[in-house]
Amino acid sequence: MCIVGAGYTGLSTALHLAERGVAVVVLEAGAIGAGGSGASGGQVIPGLRHFPTELVRAYGEDLGHRLLAFGAGDADTTFDLIARHGIDCAAHRGGWLQVADTDAGVAEGERRARAWAERGAPIDVLTRDQTVAALGSTAYRGGWRDRRGGSVNPLAYVRGLGRAAITAGAQVFTNSAVRTLTRDGAGWVVATSTGRVRCQRVLLATNAGTLPGVAPLVERLNQCQLAVWSYQIATPLPPGDTILPGAPVVSDTRRVLRYFRLDAARRLVIGGKGLGRAPKDVSDFALQRHMRATLYPSLAEAEISHAWGGRIGITLDRLPRLFAVGEGAWAILQDNGKGIAWNTASGAPLADLLQGVPAERLPLVPATAPAPIPFAWARRWYVAAGNSWLRLRDRMEGAR
Ligand SMILES: Cc1cc2nc3c(=O)[nH]c(=O)nc-3n(C[C@H](O)[C@H](O)[C@H](O)COP(=O)(O)OP(=O)(O)OC[C@H]3O[C@@H](n4cnc5c(N)ncnc54)[C@H](O)[C@@H]3O)c2cc1C
Repeated sequence: MCIVGAGYTGLSTALHLAERGVAVVVLEAGAIGAGGSGASGGQVIPGLRHFPTELVRAYGEDLGHRLLAFGAGDADTTFDLIARHGIDCAAHRGGWLQVADTDAGVAEGERRARAWAERGAPIDVLTRDQTVAALGSTAYRGGWRDRRGGSVNPLAYVRGLGRAAITAGAQVFTNSAVRTLTRDGAGWVVATSTGRVRCQRVLLATNAGTLPGVAPLVERLNQCQLAVWSYQIATPLPPGDTILPGAPVVSDTRRVLRYFRLDAARRLVIGGKGLGRAPKDVSDFALQRHMRATLYPSLAEAEISHAWGGRIGITLDRLPRLFAVGEGAWAILQDNGKGIAWNTASGAPLADLLQGVPAERLPLVPATAPAPIPFAWARRWYVAAGNSWLRLRDRMEGAR
């Protein structure tokens, strides 16, 4: 079997296949974790962002509930996998806080907390005082805590996943951009500019990756979602600073959201919307510095030790997509800014799919033909206009 893309999705699928004794090759255009997986915020957050009722409405009772149950356990699955393979990635289970700084956000958070608590999730609603104590910041008015969440060093985690897959028997080739995918008898030939893999089944797990001269099929996948940049900065805390006790991961309810956490070296890692391109210099991180000053004024002028960005693939309804691209060949897009837990856990069902289990029996969205979003050529403008509109709506609700 051949997997294209060495992020959480591709490597977890390869790991599960290799553990079952299947011969599997992973082809990666850059290095392991070169896409979103290596650049991520490291927040392990359970499930999809949709309300239970939305998933049931989108997929019906049977699959809707299967996806909900799968999402409810995906953070456990991720931390279990890390422990089972001894992956050294600063895994920490300090919970996930979703916090709000507007009345509308607090009400929305309470609605979410109730919806998940009704399904048995370990959730606590936080008062304003509890929120302030949990963050060490007065910037938010309320929120809720999901005890299933936690954090990892995202690059160490994806590299460890790669090592586990290789140890289990997978072959992983980096600097191997796939250029073509062609039918070959009952199987497929997946070709880079220097080599070819003959295989029976293929999974494209290329997410938001665009490469010049890439396989037209991958380019077509790129047209099925938007790609937005998210930037992060890391600030070493001064000795004695006690913000974020217990080191939970935090994101807020804004439409253009802010997310932050402490890493294992006690750096405040804070992220949010980037520009419409890769960051070039320190001035590109003005928004992240502003977030830091708003949330933690005492750190407003603190030295930044690291700054970076990554591209997030976003489908218009923020639901995953599974595309059937030919007999025995599939492509999966499942980023939407929240892929550590979900994409890791999806490795097992994707391995099942590649081994012939019908998709209808798995916790996977139904496979369709790749469907580019309308006016896909205007994707950059969609993103710019969408961001402005969402920020305006946040401001209208009182977000500073
Ligand atoms: C800045 C940022 C912060 C984030 N924060 C969080 C967070 O805190 N928590 C969370 O859960 N999620 C977060 N995410 C989202 C999460 O990182 C993604 O959902 C996840 O990494 C997607 O995994 P993937 O394996 O599907 O795709 P990717 O990791 O993007 O992997 C796709 C791979 O395919 C390769 N590829 C593309 N084209 C080709 C080709 N033609 N040939 C060969 N290889 C190819 C790419 O190089 C890439 O390595 C964040 C993302 C970003 C960018």
